[in-house]
Amino acid sequence: MDRIQMKTPLVEMDGDEMTRILWKMIKEELILPFIDLKTEYYDLGLEHRDETNDQVTIDSANAAKRLGVAVKCATITPNAARVTEYDLKEMWKSPNGTIRAIMDGTVFRSPILVKGIRPQVRCWKKPITIARHAYGDVYKNAEIKVPGPGKAELVFTGEDGTRITEEIFTFKGPGVLQGMHNLNASIESFARSCFRFALDQGQDLWFSTKDTISKKYDHTFKDIFEEIYETEFRALFEEKGITYFYTLIDDAVARVMKSEGGFIWACKNYDGDVMSDMISSAFGSLAMMTSVLVSPDGKYEYEAAHGTVQRHYYKYLKGEETSTNSVATIFAWTGALRKRGELDGIEELQIFANRMEQAVIETIESGKMTKDLALISELENIQVLNSEDFIKAVRDRYLFLVA
Ligand code: NAP
Ligand code: MG
Repeated sequence: MDRIQMKTPLVEMDGDEMTRILWKMIKEELILPFIDLKTEYYDLGLEHRDETNDQVTIDSANAAKRLGVAVKCATITPNAARVTEYDLKEMWKSPNGTIRAIMDGTVFRSPILVKGIRPQVRCWKKPITIARHAYGDVYKNAEIKVPGPGKAELVFTGEDGTRITEEIFTFKGPGVLQGMHNLNASIESFARSCFRFALDQGQDLWFSTKDTISKKYDHTFKDIFEEIYETEFRALFEEKGITYFYTLIDDAVARVMKSEGGFIWACKNYDGDVMSDMISSAFGSLAMMTSVLVSPDGKYEYEAAHGTVQRHYYKYLKGEETSTNSVATIFAWTGALRKRGELDGIEELQIFANRMEQAVIETIESGKMTKDLALISELENIQVLNSEDFIKAVRDRYLFLVA
């Protein structure tokens, strides 16, 4: 079989623990036999991050900006225990946080649907994608525990000396206070990433805030989205036959619950945090979610939504059998290869990605799956496979599809 040729390399960000093991298996069994793979390789494994004082993470994010498409393996975000375990020089920051800050993006997460695993919400027939703004609000707040009676005020002092003051509350006893912020530039990036992603997917975009209550803060989000939609995206949306729809967050929740799915729901930072966990658990499993970071200038980083599956890795190290779900990591590869194919005009690469995803889904629907899915699947003829045998079953299915 002739292997598919690539033009531009993918940025390959290798990672840690069980997902690093899966990464190698996926490349060997599902990618390299079919594609003359070109990648610029960055080892984000914790040991190498430590050796390079985390420079490798920064370099990989800059490479993603330069080349446009990256695929990332799950990585350890060190805590105190990891500093001891890996004898680290420092408690390095979360690689995802570093990459997000450099690429300035929005994270889009969607469930992968298969027969036999039914969403908890019965009317959901198509995936619901959450687009979460990843800057500011309550995640960068300032808080005060108010000790007793007194007046609380919000004060802005401009560089030119302008003062804007707003009374918050006059306390008669103890209480709590919180101040938070966001930036027009960040909200604009978020809006553009969402509109572009909706065009890419050919799906409607919903956006929700609480602008009736928050008449300046949330209303600014609403206004910025509206302005960018009208001036930059309305014509493109109409051409594609998709819509942009704004509604209040509580109305959005009610509509989502009664919907069939098949749209993108843009959420402010906190709403996105809460709603993405609700959506992923209602659809089944974190190992059945795709996740992609899209920058406002159209650069993409594909990853799995779950972590490095540490518990399985320790079993693997002891030589015990593991049944770790590789679906999200396979879809990170196919997502990246499909996007590379689109950008470079290589149709075979796009067809390859679609067929490989089809092979994954058909493998599971034929009853062959890892343990995590066997626990929630309603199929009757289930065969639980180990990590490696699942990937091999996908390869066999792929070969059957292309034969
Ligand atoms: P995790 O790796 O997501 O795993 C938590 C548990 O969820 C696993 O023990 C397993 O349950 C189940 N699970 C997750 N992914 C699975 C898969 N693909 N197949 C089967 N089961 C799966 O989270 P964690 O153990 O809390 O974190 C481990 C490391 O990952 C941490 O160092 C953290 O910093 C890192 N992390 C990285 C990312 C990222 O790079 N995107 C995201 C989150 C966490 P059972 O044990 O019950 O089988
Ligand atoms: Mg969360």
